[in-house]
Amino acid sequence: MKRKALIAGNWKMHTTAVEARMLATAVAEGCSGIDDRDVLIAPPFTVLGEVAASVKGSRVIVASQNVCWEEQGAYTGEISPIMVKAAGGSAAIVGHSERRQIFLEGDDLINRRLTGALTSGLMVILCVGETLEEREGGRMFAVLDRQVRRGLAGVDAAAMTRVVIAYEPVWAIGTGKTASKEQAQEAHAFIRNLLGEIFQKDIAAQTRILYGGSVKPTNIDELMAQPDIDGALVGGAALDPQSFRRIIAFG
Ligand code: PEP
Repeated sequence: MKRKALIAGNWKMHTTAVEARMLATAVAEGCSGIDDRDVLIAPPFTVLGEVAASVKGSRVIVASQNVCWEEQGAYTGEISPIMVKAAGGSAAIVGHSERRQIFLEGDDLINRRLTGALTSGLMVILCVGETLEEREGGRMFAVLDRQVRRGLAGVDAAAMTRVVIAYEPVWAIGTGKTASKEQAQEAHAFIRNLLGEIFQKDIAAQTRILYGGSVKPTNIDELMAQPDIDGALVGGAALDPQSFRRIIAFG
């Protein structure tokens, strides 16, 4: 099955409104005329609306970097799927390793975020990935197995059309250290096989699995040439319009 590539930019805690508008406009311009791949950007909550307005009419998907499972209520510091949609977004990232590591979000909380976002109709990118200690201790596959199974608990096959998995080895995020194409392919193949066990083979074949971890213009082509790599989740290089445009134009 041919899967449509997805290049996603995670802006993390960067950009004021002026910077965000400029960057979003550059991304929208950079992908005009390219329709064989999807492009997504995840700006900070504060500029979701500005960014959505800047890319309106383009094919750029706007996502939040996290999302709550509730529609509204006493959840200080959170943002609901309804708020994301009202601001012009249609997707959310959940389970980013920075949320797991710095803000101590666990698999069950991430699963609540994911299922809440799906129920509200958003597309969701579920991030998974092992730390260096887990990889070197031979626990990589066990960690991926747990994060994928628990992250997707309760999700049915129909909703899986709106789920994207991002394999992001923690040791490669923001470190300049990219997983080799062989290491990335091995993890992606494992995750795809696991999706086949949890759901069915056709779900495994249709689900996009992105690689994330120091993706740059210089390594995107070899990563995208791997059979189970369907796109990239890009942090640092997504803040530079020229780099991100080159990554979008992979191949
Ligand atoms: C990320 O933010 O998900 C990421 C992969 O960051 P970077 O590309 O900077 O490693």
